[in-house]
Amino acid sequence: MSLAAHPSPNAPLLSHFSLAGKTALVTGGTRGIGLEVARGLAEAGSKVAIKASGQTVKAYKCNVTHQPEISSTIDTVRTELGSGVLDIVVANAGIATHHAGLDYTPEQFQEIMNVNLNGAFYTAQAAGRIFEKQGFGNVIFTASVSAILVNIPQKQAAYNASKAAVVQLARCLSVEWVKFARVNCVSPGYIATDMLDIHPKEWREKWFGMIPAARLCEPAELKGAYVFLASDASSYMTGANLVIDGGYTLP
Ligand code: NDP
Repeated sequence: MSLAAHPSPNAPLLSHFSLAGKTALVTGGTRGIGLEVARGLAEAGSKVAIKASGQTVKAYKCNVTHQPEISSTIDTVRTELGSGVLDIVVANAGIATHHAGLDYTPEQFQEIMNVNLNGAFYTAQAAGRIFEKQGFGNVIFTASVSAILVNIPQKQAAYNASKAAVVQLARCLSVEWVKFARVNCVSPGYIATDMLDIHPKEWREKWFGMIPAARLCEPAELKGAYVFLASDASSYMTGANLVIDGGYTLP
């Protein structure tokens, strides 16, 4: 549903959350957050494509840093799963590394930007071209609380910069595409996935000790937020950044 329309005020509330009949693509759906988001969208009724193999939803292999590849994958998903229609794209694929700002090589810096920013943009743009023709569509980016804070010890300048850029990308596209698509972000805090394992144990302990909720978030705890953003329950929301962090960014 585009911003021009709205759900019937008489429809039962829970029907606003239904994704029945919708087709969605989630990048980075092999594991972690993306896999749970794909499950959530499927539970809410949509047909879901993920980038990978062997899950409860249909899998497509694709590297998001290769623009022609993500573009043709999105076209294939639209044809094969959606009978010509794509409703929702979740640009979630991402990587993290840590290097001191003085040590980054150009290749290390570009690798992060290529996946987290360029890949997210290529995904949204390929979907956006379809959404413009259809007159409706929904883009959700996975950003991060790293878009808005600096962790100490901070050795993630590239990661944090890439996520801050994703938030601003979403804000810009939400206005440009307002006639045909809603564009929003989810910014998770610390989520128990493989991604956290790259950080030294002492950093993790320090960060986790600062979470007011006093625990990590399970990836499945995020799927309700993505279903909300993907569904008519959020029909008037665009350009928003939903922070889900157990209070981490508040103190
Ligand atoms: P994981 O490391 O568990 O999963 C990363 C996913 O991204 C995998 O499916 C991986 O595919 C995919 N991926 C990586 N590079 C590419 C690529 N070039 N093309 C296509 N897919 C790719 O991480 P999370 O689930 O934790 O992270 C998902 C998103 O959430 C990321 O954008 C991350 O930055 C963000 N995030 C994570 C937080 C956390 O605490 N975990 C906090 C805030 C944000 P494959 O399996 O093939 O490698």
